[in-house]
Amino acid sequence: MNIIRLCRFCSLAFLFMGMLTTNEVAMAAQAEFGPSNPFYAASTLPFQAPPFDKIKDSDYQPAIEAGMAQQIEEVKKIADNPAPPTFENTIVALEKTGQLFARVMQVFNGVTGANLSPELQKVQDIEAPRLAAHQDAIYLNSKLFQRVSAIYEKRASLKLDPEALRLVEYDYLQFVHAGAKLSDADKTELKKLNEEESTLANAFTTKLLAATKNAAFVTTDKNALAGLSAAQIEAAEEAAKERKIIGYVIPLQNTTQQPDLESLSNRTTRQTIFENSWNRAERGGADDTRETVARLAQLRAQKAKLLGFENYGAWKLEDQMAKTPAAAVKFMDSLVPGTTAKAAVEAKDIQEAIDAQKGGFTLQPWDWEFYSEQVRKAKYELDESQIKPYFELNNVLQNGVFYAATQLYGITFKERTDIPVYHPDVRVFEVFDVDGKPMALWYCDYFKRDNKNGGAWMDVFVGQSKLLGTLPVVFNVANFSKPAAGQPALLSFGDVTTMFHEFGHALHGMFANTTYPSLSGTQVARDFVEFPSQFNEHWATYPSVFDHYAKHYKTGDAIPAELAAKIKKAEKFNQGYALTEVVAAAQLDMQWHTLPASDALKNPDEFEKQALEKKHLLISYLPPRYRSSYFSHCWGGGYAAGYYAYLWSEMLDDAAYQWFKEHGGLTRANGDRLRQMILSRGNTGELGKMYAAWYGGEPPVEPMLRERGLLPEDSAVEKRK
Ligand SMILES: [Zn+2]
Repeated sequence: MNIIRLCRFCSLAFLFMGMLTTNEVAMAAQAEFGPSNPFYAASTLPFQAPPFDKIKDSDYQPAIEAGMAQQIEEVKKIADNPAPPTFENTIVALEKTGQLFARVMQVFNGVTGANLSPELQKVQDIEAPRLAAHQDAIYLNSKLFQRVSAIYEKRASLKLDPEALRLVEYDYLQFVHAGAKLSDADKTELKKLNEEESTLANAFTTKLLAATKNAAFVTTDKNALAGLSAAQIEAAEEAAKERKIIGYVIPLQNTTQQPDLESLSNRTTRQTIFENSWNRAERGGADDTRETVARLAQLRAQKAKLLGFENYGAWKLEDQMAKTPAAAVKFMDSLVPGTTAKAAVEAKDIQEAIDAQKGGFTLQPWDWEFYSEQVRKAKYELDESQIKPYFELNNVLQNGVFYAATQLYGITFKERTDIPVYHPDVRVFEVFDVDGKPMALWYCDYFKRDNKNGGAWMDVFVGQSKLLGTLPVVFNVANFSKPAAGQPALLSFGDVTTMFHEFGHALHGMFANTTYPSLSGTQVARDFVEFPSQFNEHWATYPSVFDHYAKHYKTGDAIPAELAAKIKKAEKFNQGYALTEVVAAAQLDMQWHTLPASDALKNPDEFEKQALEKKHLLISYLPPRYRSSYFSHCWGGGYAAGYYAYLWSEMLDDAAYQWFKEHGGLTRANGDRLRQMILSRGNTGELGKMYAAWYGGEPPVEPMLRERGLLPEDSAVEKRK
């Protein structure tokens, strides 16, 4: 059923949040809803693409309210149906509910994430708790649950096809997971907690957006920026202009480390930027998130207890591939010794570089990027500024990202300038299947804006479903530096990888070929959803793909072989740091979400320190990728007790890539097999089994360790288990 797709992938951040509203506000909004509202009926544009040329900020709220009301009516009819429950009149009927609601919410989520306006912010604040309540009104409807439950009990005798059977089991678990089996008193309590959670999650995101903006590095002293390239300085000037400030502004990225730290030679500037980042949401005042974080952790523990689980993680992981926090933690623990040892070796190299230059100080986190870039240059003679001219955005897109997809899956792309967009930076492509038939629309919105959430992600405007007759309309968002007017967008290799990554999610969405909307596309367990995206990253360095796009933006010359070899070799560089910062964040997330309900409110700073120390991850020079106070995956997004999923999926994707290498690499046959057995199937089967059937066994962890350079390249290929 079309409840809400709250989850976004990769970086995200969005539940909605805010103050409880009065019913009058909502009712007034609903009264305004009529045929003149662009969400009133399905869009008549190709693929039912959102009519952004007609949508005004004031259209969303009335449509959201009407969408919720309509779905409640539809659900009520199903629940009150006097006929005995059948698969058709209950499960399929539920799948058909909420189409208006989905239509507006998917666009609303997309636009508020990528192009927020003050007006939409207000709508978000008002609707957040109402959306949570809407979800509860469906899942906690006991008459409806009785019908779902009745079908679930007799499912074996219904002669359902496998997808239909999966849907029955999925729906049942969703209801139970949401508290359908609770007493009425407990349901009331749960609803209260859910509303508070969504309000706090929204508050967290709002605060963090402001905190991140306010903690940007601002200076009028050009000397403070020594080491930055002319283009980077120009970008800092542009950023200042956008904010109507004189001087230079370096906006913060969502992670702890900041990209410009690798170039800035002024140590005081580096320290200031790092500390701005680290303390962005801990500066007291309105944007400080610590109280919000502490209460969120506590109320999630209380919610889990109410639902009969030991802690939030146990509740959350019940339907994931890992199944229990213990399994996820055991996997993460197994990574710690190897990755921290590798990081220690990297730190030693860096300290040697500092000492060789008579720096006279001990390595601190704000030195890491700068000196590791130097070590990288010394070891690999690789300089980002040498590389970037070979990675011009449009070329990478057409001759890299699209090219790989065409080679693997036979699909093709054509830009469409006639489809309306929500911002001039957005581009739209039509995607054609092997047989030339229209398959999907794909949007990309790649450049950073102050009103865009940090990171990169994928989501849909329209989900695929045979039942509803819809084809996928998918979008990718990123935060690449926007070049000055008239300049080409030259990417770092990290940005290139991000493009492949997000496009991997997009393929998962676009290949969706399922009947029921609830099981379609990327709506899979969190510890599986990053598998198609991370898998797609591998093609960025696959020789025949890499050679096809890595060309100089001015001359069209192929990247020199020597430089290409260095890029590939350098991929293994700094992986001790990179993996450790992710493991640290993932362990931190899981510890926040395995607290018992009986615990008092935590002091986030103390808790964080203890949590890292306990896992041997409190390392002076190596902070976690996100600190508790700006960990939006955990608090504002859908990755609570789920950040480990990136690592888990990495195990899946590296094993998968090894499988490809053992079976002829980039071939149509291999691509088609993956599409057929996994990418097109969404959540229509048990994911662990789906993977094992495709791979030929359980995924081994060694390919991941090898990819990360934590095991030698030539270590024995694992036996299939
Ligand atoms: Zn992702």
